[in-house]
Order: sequence, then C-alpha cells, then structure tokens
Amino acid sequence: MATSRSESLDWRCPACNIGTNSEGVAFSSARAVSLHIAGKIKTGDSTHRQWAVGRVGDNIQTLRYETINTLAAEIEPSIIEARQIIEELILRSIEERDANEEPNVLAYRYIRNIEVPLHKCIRQTLVDGYGANEDEWWVKGIPLAIRRDCANRKEESTPREEPYHYTYLIDLKTIIEKNRTLFENRLRTVNKQTNHQREFLDGIGKCNDIRNRVMHTMHEISDDDLSFLKQFCSLVKQFSEDL
Ligand SMILES: [Zn+2]
Repeated sequence: MATSRSESLDWRCPACNIGTNSEGVAFSSARAVSLHIAGKIKTGDSTHRQWAVGRVGDNIQTLRYETINTLAAEIEPSIIEARQIIEELILRSIEERDANEEPNVLAYRYIRNIEVPLHKCIRQTLVDGYGANEDEWWVKGIPLAIRRDCANRKEESTPREEPYHYTYLIDLKTIIEKNRTLFENRLRTVNKQTNHQREFLDGIGKCNDIRNRVMHTMHEISDDDLSFLKQFCSLVKQFSEDL
C-alpha cells in the first residue's frame, strides 16, 4: 500500500511505551497520549511525572493540582515533537535501505506501491458509481475483453481469487479510460501539476513497461526508471485518496 509511512506509525506513550488507554482503545492522537500521561501523573505515577518534567520542565510540578485537561494541553506539544523525531528516523532508515537495494528489487517495491492502491481505488470508485453487485460495478465498469482475460487467469491460478484480482496494470489504465467520468475528479487532482489530461494514464502505461522489464531480469532498470516510479508512487497516492 502507498500509505504514508507516518500513518502506519502507532501512537505510543513515550514514558511507558503503551499504545492503548485504560479501556484498551488504541491512542489515535497526540491528545489521547497526553491525556494518558496527565492521568498517570494525577495518580502519582513517578515514571510519567519524570518524563513530563524532563520534556516539559519543572512547571509540570505546579500543574499537578490542575485538571487533567490543563495538564494534557501542557504535555501535548512534547508528544508531537517526540513523534516527529521518530518519523524522521524512520524516513531516513528507509532512504538508506533504498540506496543499498538492487534496482530490480527496488523497482518491484515501487510498482507494488503503485498497483495495490490503484487497484483498490478503482474497484471502490466503480462500486460507488455503479453499485456493489457483480452485474453492476464488474459488468458495467470492466470491458468484456478484460473480464474474459481475468476469468482465464483465475482458472490458471491457485488459490482462485475474485476475477478482479487478476487485472494487470495495463488493464487498470483501460478501466479508467472506459469510465473516465467517474475518475474525472481524481484525474484532475493528479494532472493539475501538468495541465495535461493524458499524463497520469500515460504514466500507468510506462509503469507497466517497467514492470515487464523487472520481471525479465536480463533487462536493466535505470536510475531514470527508478526516479520515475518513485514520483509516480506519490501521484498514485494522491489519485487514490478519498475525495
Ligand atoms: Zn504511559
């Protein structure tokens, strides 16, 4: 999936490393973590108080008799700052790993980050546009030739998934072209930078060409291919976002 790296990062308490509140619900924001720490300080927990004194400063001592909300508001900026530091470390380690990766392996990973969200977004857009029944989104949205190809690929594979599972990147391009009005807003979003209506669809075609080369390892993947794929990943992320 092409979800941003920071979205997949859990919110955790920097003092005790727990990821859920007292009711077992995962923290979903800096505010939630701050309330957890404030609550712990209120009950006299020294680990959390020490963390807060270290990050926020000694005035946390005088805030001890304030409400949990006041205390949490004081703590929240430190939680956000701590998370930003972790995010930067994660990004840096991903970039370092990418620099050492074989070009074909790296290209394959980028292509997965393009294919998976695109595939998911197209299905959802067709379901929203035509309806969730097979004779709606599948029959109305997918050209007959692609439906036939998918059925054949399904019969040749184990385990057998739903036919849509067997679309190729080049099929996804055709599906968008056939249902252009349903994808109009998404296309406009990604083509805004270039003011060029075919830019994104041509990009899918180019990804498909690189994909075919990745699968045949005798063909070299160039630095240009890699930088194109990397940029196209972020375009697909925009294209697939909820509108
Ligand atoms: Zn904690």
